[in-house]
Amino acid sequence: DARRKVPEIVVDDLLGATFCAQDGLGNPHEVTQAYVARARERGVRFDFQRSATGIRMDGESVVGIETSQGPIDTPLVINAAGPHAAEVAKWAGVDLPVLPFRRHCFTTQPLPFVHDRLPMIVDMSSGVYMHRESGGMLLGLAKADEPPGFDTSVDWDFLERVVEPAVRRIPALEAAEIANGWAGLYETTPDHNAVLGPAAGVRGLMLANGFSGHGFMQAPAVGQLIAEWVVDGRPSLDLHPLRLERFAEREAMVEANVI
Ligand SMILES: Cc1cc2nc3c(=O)[nH]c(=O)nc-3n(C[C@H](O)[C@H](O)[C@H](O)COP(=O)(O)OP(=O)(O)OC[C@H]3O[C@@H](n4cnc5c(N)ncnc54)[C@H](O)[C@@H]3O)c2cc1C
Repeated sequence: DARRKVPEIVVDDLLGATFCAQDGLGNPHEVTQAYVARARERGVRFDFQRSATGIRMDGESVVGIETSQGPIDTPLVINAAGPHAAEVAKWAGVDLPVLPFRRHCFTTQPLPFVHDRLPMIVDMSSGVYMHRESGGMLLGLAKADEPPGFDTSVDWDFLERVVEPAVRRIPALEAAEIANGWAGLYETTPDHNAVLGPAAGVRGLMLANGFSGHGFMQAPAVGQLIAEWVVDGRPSLDLHPLRLERFAEREAMVEANVI
């Protein structure tokens, strides 16, 4: 079945394969721009030139933020700072275990076997993932020995370690020319799951952090649930398992299938 779906993949060494017809691929830039446009229509104001530099507290309550262009009074701050989430939480005295880890992906020039219905392919033994991108393929792999840090320069020496397992799974990639390389940051928690909800002990700080490299697909649901929390006082899903306190309570459940 796997070979029928993707004739290019080597299946001889596979014990099994999964396919979900409802899975899809999204373009993060397009999705983000669509959200921005819709939010603007509904009266949201964005200030992309303004960095938050601190949180103003009155005792245990948030009363405002400091920014690069002066302070703003507010009783509510939502920490959605991605890899910078720990620093933002610290401004309110909250210890948030989110570390930045550099992650690479590389794209190829257009390839003859790539078509619109080619599914994303994840090789679970090596961790390499591949999906169609601008007529070619995007290849990604987590570097196991990457130390935490904010460096997003491309380590071109790493390319070979990505290409090798990719070509083993799809030999047709042997002929591919690399078009580009890119590195971004995963925002990783100790159990590779998000931290969602109010920060205990601080009034007015909401956490939407630590998506550990799988935040794009969770973003629409997270946005809705956090909005419900703020507007209705509670979310429509039980998010107790994703509370920050789970780490101190030793109730974290490690997500093993992060690529
Ligand atoms: C190579 C790579 C591949 C990935 N692939 C996938 C995938 O296939 N599927 C998936 O679901 N996820 C994927 N992810 C993960 C996904 O991109 C993240 O989980 C997601 O972007 C996290 O969203 P976020 O809004 O929490 O943070 P971000 O998208 O990082 O956004 C945080 C924002 O906060 C802003 N910010 C930070 N500090 C401040 C400040 N002090 N003041 C003002 N603004 C600030 C930043 O500028 C940024 O705009 C991938 C990530 C990488 C690096």
